[in-house]
Amino acid sequence: MAGELILVVEDNERNLRLVRDVLHHGGFRTIEASTGEDGVALARRHEPDLILMDVQLPDIDGVEALGRLRRAPETAALPVVAVTAFAMKNDRARFLAAGFDGYLEKPISVRLLPAQVQRFLTARETEAPR
Ligand code: MN
Repeated sequence: MAGELILVVEDNERNLRLVRDVLHHGGFRTIEASTGEDGVALARRHEPDLILMDVQLPDIDGVEALGRLRRAPETAALPVVAVTAFAMKNDRARFLAAGFDGYLEKPISVRLLPAQVQRFLTARETEAPR
């Protein structure tokens, strides 16, 4: 159960380091990308168990990256969670409508992140209805 591979796509180096450290401490393995295109490429190559996708990225944004993953057969079914700093009220519905499997709001909680990631992994395994 432990040791699942998490792809973290995040362009802010401090945030990336924080998420990586927290996930490693929680027993997960990580691979990391700082652009949307690199994230899509890593997802194809490694087929991670879960992708944490920052929405605001320097090249293609997280929504476009998600679209590319969904259009490619080998990555279409990977669970992808949007990570966003947008504080707007309707974001959650908007990102779920875009096809993300879930939604995490920045700032990431160091305390809660491992359990949140585990919940997304478990939800995917059991195909829990929304
Ligand atoms: Mn960003």
